[in-house]
Amino acid sequence: MYHSIKNPLKTKCRKCRKEILFDHAGRLYCKVCAVIAHKESRERAHKKRKQYRLTVKANKFHYHKDCRVCGEQFESTRKTRKYCSDKCKDVNFRIERYMNKIIKYQDKIQSLLTNK
Ligand SMILES: [Zn+2]
Ligand SMILES: [Zn+2]
Repeated sequence: MYHSIKNPLKTKCRKCRKEILFDHAGRLYCKVCAVIAHKESRERAHKKRKQYRLTVKANKFHYHKDCRVCGEQFESTRKTRKYCSDKCKDVNFRIERYMNKIIKYQDKIQSLLTNK
């Protein structure tokens, strides 16, 4: 797993400029600074996530959509949202169920008509 280099190269810690052994590819810091750097990168990532959440919040009502049921304009965070409210969503669900029933019976009627 661990390859030791016969003639170890020397490098300088990116943080404290102390001379360290370049004992594996990608070594940038001395042992002390590596811990700090790791912590810092974690904090940076955390900040980034926080910033991202804030931007999302700022753009919360980004999409302007027309409700498929009542035609009312509404703003949504999600591109895929089709209805202005749960009520309209429910109404649509009922309509679809009703339509499915009609289609089902249409097929029955059709089959009765064709199979005399
Ligand atoms: Zn260092
Ligand atoms: Zn609606």
